[in-house]
Amino acid sequence: MSGAPPVLELRDVRCAFGDHEVLRGISLSVHRHEVVALIGASGSGKSTLLRTANLLEHIGDGQVLLAGEDISDPRVDADAVRARIGTVFQAYNLFPHLSVLDNVTLAARLVHNVPRARAEARALDLLASIGLGAKAKAFPDTLSGGQQQRVAIVRAIATEPELLLLDEITSALDPELVGEVLDLVRRLKDDGATILMATHEMAFAREVADRVVFLDQGRVCETGPAREVLGTPREPRTREFLSRVL
Ligand code: ADP
Ligand code: MG
Repeated sequence: MSGAPPVLELRDVRCAFGDHEVLRGISLSVHRHEVVALIGASGSGKSTLLRTANLLEHIGDGQVLLAGEDISDPRVDADAVRARIGTVFQAYNLFPHLSVLDNVTLAARLVHNVPRARAEARALDLLASIGLGAKAKAFPDTLSGGQQQRVAIVRAIATEPELLLLDEITSALDPELVGEVLDLVRRLKDDGATILMATHEMAFAREVADRVVFLDQGRVCETGPAREVLGTPREPRTREFLSRVL
């Protein structure tokens, strides 16, 4: 291992809504070029964990580090942190009033001050690479759910983020559209992306994730290489969860 710090590290992170403690001391790390799958029952805290990494949730205690920098320090500029992270949520969150091209280039142009021509050239390359070059001028509602979600992913990577957070990005899709979105995630992995993804696609997690983190009621119950956690889980709670979802 090189001495580089993890791209993302959570140290004993706690997060509560009122007196409901949703994250109860989470520690985990994601290293460069690593794909980590976050699994667990609905309500176990997966989305909240991803949102703490993006500073969208108040961190009650503990630390979140991005490339070694403590981003949970209140003095940190949250917008500057978010500009370094690409995020894709479950439901397509493209801006409906913007063309596909404008959706993909918006952050590059407004947040990163990339000149329009350069941002558009990169966006068109990215769209062409997912077979949607011809849709650049189209509006999101003319695309299928799978196409919209692929545009959302391309938008997230358009600014070359250090880290990608993917929150159940296929769960709102018709089954026949899931494959094309997962294919794109596979390609991002092959291209060396660093990804933390909440997913209920266990077969996909097993194939693509380097490591799996199983969350149970706001705690990391089990973590390890994807094949081990999903194939021969050690913890009874992991076994019970997997027997329900596999
Ligand atoms: P998951 O993504 O694993 O389904 P979540 O992180 O969405 O889990 O939710 C974990 C728990 O936190 C759930 O009990 C949920 O009801 C609660 N929760 C999430 N967001 C909020 C919120 N904004 N206000 C109150 N409770 C919330
Ligand atoms: Mg969730």
